[in-house]
Amino acid sequence: MDFNDSPEEAAYRAQAKAWLEANAADHAARSAGGRRPNTDDHMAAAKSWQARKAEAGYACITWPKAWGGGGGSPIQQVIFNQEEGKAGVNYGYFTIGLGMCVPTVMAFADDETKQRFVGPAVRGEEIWCQLFSEPAGGSDVAAARTRAVRDGDDWVINGQKVWTTGAQYSDYGIVLVRTDPDTPKHKGLTMFWIDMKSPGVEVRPIYQMSGGSEFNEVYFTDVRVKDSQRLGEPGQGWQVALVTLMNERLAVGGSAGPNYAEIMNLARDLPAGNGPALSDASFREKLADWYVQAEGLKLTRFRTMTALSRGQTPGPESSIGKIISANQLQDLSNLAVEMEDQYGIINDPALAPMEAAFQQSLMWAPGLRIAGGTDEILKNIIAERVLGLPGEVRVDKDVPFKDMPTGR
Ligand SMILES: Cc1cc2nc3c(=O)[nH]c(=O)nc-3n(C[C@H](O)[C@H](O)[C@H](O)COP(=O)(O)OP(=O)(O)OC[C@H]3O[C@@H](n4cnc5c(N)ncnc54)[C@H](O)[C@@H]3O)c2cc1C
Repeated sequence: MDFNDSPEEAAYRAQAKAWLEANAADHAARSAGGRRPNTDDHMAAAKSWQARKAEAGYACITWPKAWGGGGGSPIQQVIFNQEEGKAGVNYGYFTIGLGMCVPTVMAFADDETKQRFVGPAVRGEEIWCQLFSEPAGGSDVAAARTRAVRDGDDWVINGQKVWTTGAQYSDYGIVLVRTDPDTPKHKGLTMFWIDMKSPGVEVRPIYQMSGGSEFNEVYFTDVRVKDSQRLGEPGQGWQVALVTLMNERLAVGGSAGPNYAEIMNLARDLPAGNGPALSDASFREKLADWYVQAEGLKLTRFRTMTALSRGQTPGPESSIGKIISANQLQDLSNLAVEMEDQYGIINDPALAPMEAAFQQSLMWAPGLRIAGGTDEILKNIIAERVLGLPGEVRVDKDVPFKDMPTGR
């Protein structure tokens, strides 16, 4: 493991830092730490930040310059992400599109489609969403029931997706549908890109406990897409989805919300019994646990960075990062809100300590433990692919999809 930047990496970091110092100040306050109020003002600010990054070669750093990217390496992307995080700019609207959907379009679409869509997405002019999960298929993405039937040069889509982040403001999406129910579940799927304003697409925001509506139900009623919108061959949708999901593991790897240093600050300020929470013995015990976890995570991330720095691809072991950080965020936020006593129930940033950062993260952390693979699914991945334990029993692997029991 290598803890230090190479000379080239240090030079890149210095250059990124200088650029952020010159450009990020006005955006640090406006970006609201990754929370997405979905107001027109906030969206406009997010789009202008993305355009500014694209112009300077800091948007999609690993993508070829010909496609509007920075022509750089994965380690440069990690370095820029770290520095952008330190500069306090985090809008969050483009993560799914640029992290998962557009890479899938780049891998499977024809040149004309790529020319049309990649540049506007990199510059933040158009936003994409990922339409995979359904009421009966979340962890088991291959259980998708939304149906597409061929009709001449078109396909006609009917069904429902759920938990679609950002569907309400997205221009385009990638949608996984069942085109052949006579084959086993992984074989009868097909992927399309879709215009979210197409007739028959209805987006219904889901109201969350945080008061926000970040994700949605999306209904499809006789929605027509052209065969030229197909990504990959008919029946090969699972292979296309795997490309999206591999990108998702990398895009969702980090965690949003307060970190160990911030809870130390809170612990110094908040009263608990006869002194600040920092002098409370049971609280100190918790702090020690989080410190050990945070150090372990830091070292695991160094391992990932070392792999990237050497031109290797991080393996399934990076799944552990999300399990630990999401659980730690939930645990840490829970205790912080308890420590805030009667202020803990106030979710108004103008009134609650630290602009209600812990109240927000308490409500966001359960979602983080589910999005991009639940704790249990990630543990299965670690068990099977890292530790080499026997695989899960998969009884429906060879059964035609139409013969699978549905409970109805
Ligand atoms: C914040 C957030 C954003 C999201 N954004 C999107 C998006 O933009 N697009 C999209 O398509 N989806 C999105 N999702 C959906 C997400 O991918 C699914 O919620 C997730 O895959 C889990 O699926 P599920 O909710 O159907 O739960 P289920 O798969 O029904 O799981 C229910 C429980 O069973 C457990 N479980 C399931 N299978 C196994 C197994 N094999 N072994 C052990 N335990 C198991 C799970 O861990 C979980 O505890 C988002 C979710 C969240 C929380």
